[in-house]
Amino acid sequence: MSAFTYDLLVIGSGPAGQRAAIQAAKLNKRVAIIERKTVVGGVCVNTGTIPSKTFREAALYLSGYRLRGVYGASYTVKQHITMDDLLFRTDHVIRGEIDVTRHQLMRNQVDVLCATASFVDAHTVQLVDAEEGGVRMVTGEHIVIATGTEVTRDDSIPFDGQRIFCSDDVMHLKQLPRSLTVVGAGVIGLEYASIFASLGVRVTLIDKRHRLLPFVDAELTDTLAYHLRENRVTLRLGEEVSSMELITDTLGDRVRIHLASGKQIITESALYSIGRTGATAALNMSAAGVATDARGRLTVNEQYQTSVPHIYAVGDVIGFPSLASTSMEQGRLAACHAFGVEATSVPALFPYGIYSIPEISICGRNEEELTEQGVPYEVGKAQYREIARGQIIGDSVGLLKLIFHLDTHQLLGVHIIGEGASELVHIGQAVLAFGGTVDYFVNTVFNYPTLAECYKTAAFDGINRLGLAPANDWLAVPGAAA
Ligand SMILES: Cc1cc2nc3c(=O)[nH]c(=O)nc-3n(C[C@H](O)[C@H](O)[C@H](O)COP(=O)(O)OP(=O)(O)OC[C@H]3O[C@@H](n4cnc5c(N)ncnc54)[C@H](O)[C@@H]3O)c2cc1C
Repeated sequence: MSAFTYDLLVIGSGPAGQRAAIQAAKLNKRVAIIERKTVVGGVCVNTGTIPSKTFREAALYLSGYRLRGVYGASYTVKQHITMDDLLFRTDHVIRGEIDVTRHQLMRNQVDVLCATASFVDAHTVQLVDAEEGGVRMVTGEHIVIATGTEVTRDDSIPFDGQRIFCSDDVMHLKQLPRSLTVVGAGVIGLEYASIFASLGVRVTLIDKRHRLLPFVDAELTDTLAYHLRENRVTLRLGEEVSSMELITDTLGDRVRIHLASGKQIITESALYSIGRTGATAALNMSAAGVATDARGRLTVNEQYQTSVPHIYAVGDVIGFPSLASTSMEQGRLAACHAFGVEATSVPALFPYGIYSIPEISICGRNEEELTEQGVPYEVGKAQYREIARGQIIGDSVGLLKLIFHLDTHQLLGVHIIGEGASELVHIGQAVLAFGGTVDYFVNTVFNYPTLAECYKTAAFDGINRLGLAPANDWLAVPGAAA
């Protein structure tokens, strides 16, 4: 019998912690998951991914946004949309997800301990009960830190949760503002900027960088910027906020934002979204002998071990890519490694989904990266409007872009903007993972009419750009771009 209370102690019940705990339980280990909130699921279920995506879906539906390409710009399902309308479904989905998570942990006999964890030494964790404040100790032979991140707050910003708020507050807004300024055009800022714009809110988006999402293919971000402007979003790129204040004037309670360039923006409300910090402050990491970086994050090796080998860290607390999907996989792999089960690290080829409106999804390398690396490539593109399904759904913005090696035709990257991008990308991801070529798409058959057909049209377009001899029958295929 082990001298430790548990074979594995997991701190944090978000996607990373859940998967670590369940994987270890499947290996017949004694596992506990410690969660400081009274609900499981982490940022993913309670304040981040799930609420924002459900909110987005409600906004798209109620505003009639998806069908404006079909029925005209004034089409709407409901004229006066309130926060209550938008949140009706969100609460329901969050409750459902919490229930499913709790049930999964229970079924796998993982003990859920509702307490704030902090290290006493490298194997001992102090638990302060989340509701009653009682204190007790537990020990773990192995420990997985999956505490995620918290919103980075600036003490000089007068947050009040309604007029100046952060992403955690969105689901608690009492009313939909008429104007909103989003400070920070990272993924979260961009998603909310475009969601509120789809609801008719006048949005201003400020970022000190001169380009949106620098890690995304420039053609996609240009398309996104164009589309945001079409939706009356004012982009203030290359601008820095120097201060923000709550004001009351004849027009009511508002926010004044001062930019370093001397400009001022007066707005009904402001979403401050300048990043997230590793949630390690309460953990007393030094007692475990593990250091954090300036942003509260932990450094790990390929097996997700910190500098103390039996202490692992996974998910957002270790930084990039900070996605629910990769966090889950990291959790699973850390638990496998802890108990000697062979598993490889998260593949370099993971898809990235950005749920702006229109949505973006990418997998593999982009043109800028390939040019920098000196890899010869060609590009094939398909506009959704060239595809029957694109016409049916009225998506005139959508674009699917394939990048492939000039000589071998090996697929190198898939970049999509438009309806369903985050689902469509997985077709390209599979071909990339198996080292397939663009010719696969030329020679395969897709359901008709589907957006997946974009792959075939983009492949024809790319092959045509190579200027191969006209004897190639793909040159004559309808749908292939000239
Ligand atoms: C607005 C928003 C939208 C997002 N949208 C997407 C998306 O569309 N797709 C996507 O893939 N990702 C998205 N993300 C990111 C995604 O939510 C995270 O990648 C994911 O939640 C990380 O999982 P995690 O398990 O590392 O941490 P978290 O989900 O943050 O969970 C960490 C848990 O640890 C607990 N904890 C912290 N400290 C302690 C302690 N000392 N003791 C006990 N418990 C503790 C916390 O209470 C929390 O429950 C979004 C994030 C935000 C904020």
